[in-house]
Amino acid sequence: MADKNVTRGEMLYEGKAKQVFATDKKDLVLVHFKDDATAFNGEKKGQIEDKGIINNKLSASFFRFVESAGIPTHFVTRVNDRDMLCRKVTIIPLEVIVRNVVAGSLAKRTGQAEGTELPEPIVELTYKDDAQGDPLVTKEQAISMGAAKAEEIDQICAMALQVNDALYPWLLEKKLRLIDFKLEFGRNEEGHIVLADEMSPDTCRFWDSETGEKLDKDRFRRDMGGEKEAYVEVWNRVGDFHFAVPG
Ligand code: UDP
Repeated sequence: MADKNVTRGEMLYEGKAKQVFATDKKDLVLVHFKDDATAFNGEKKGQIEDKGIINNKLSASFFRFVESAGIPTHFVTRVNDRDMLCRKVTIIPLEVIVRNVVAGSLAKRTGQAEGTELPEPIVELTYKDDAQGDPLVTKEQAISMGAAKAEEIDQICAMALQVNDALYPWLLEKKLRLIDFKLEFGRNEEGHIVLADEMSPDTCRFWDSETGEKLDKDRFRRDMGGEKEAYVEVWNRVGDFHFAVPG
């Protein structure tokens, strides 16, 4: 069991939904999950009551599950309701989006109906730059912008598909259809690429596999109401995943 007794230091970074703090351990940071919700590149702002608590717990479960499937992450342990301890990484400035079903910006861009099942999962890259609205980029553009090397991008895309292969059937058992999701990766102190950021209904689309009900941030984006209830429902279905380390 990892040591949870770290002392919180200065704030290193504040994003839309999280804050990152230094700790007294050089290679560890505390990630604090807020209730703030934003959409449309920060144009729409609000709060979802207890979102930070649910996203912290859900991210912990997802990171443990992904680790159990052999994909390294920055996650160390959950410290309390809103904070998780993570290994310090340098975030690679790319958002890696995996899609199983047409939704959101893909529906807008292509005119394909939302809900259309894709024959194979699709991976897309966007360059993390709020001022430009996180533009969609090709692998070659990402390389030329200095976001990562070609081999690193290949590795990141392969890891993202591995996450999808593990998560999709596991969530379907819980009657959650994984429509799409966004991942971020970082380089740790040894230079290895690990999954970072968060995995939650803020960053994944989940539809009830029987009714098609939306159980994610689209409820906020589209003013549907019932945001908190949807996040709680995902937590109730996913639960606190733990796995025994073999041996
Ligand atoms: N996503 C995210 N952060 C972003 C953009 C997208 O977490 O800045 C997630 C989003 O929740 C969805 C997936 O990535 O699960 C695909 O989002 P899409 O490109 O359809 O964009 P959106 O419709 O959210 O603008």
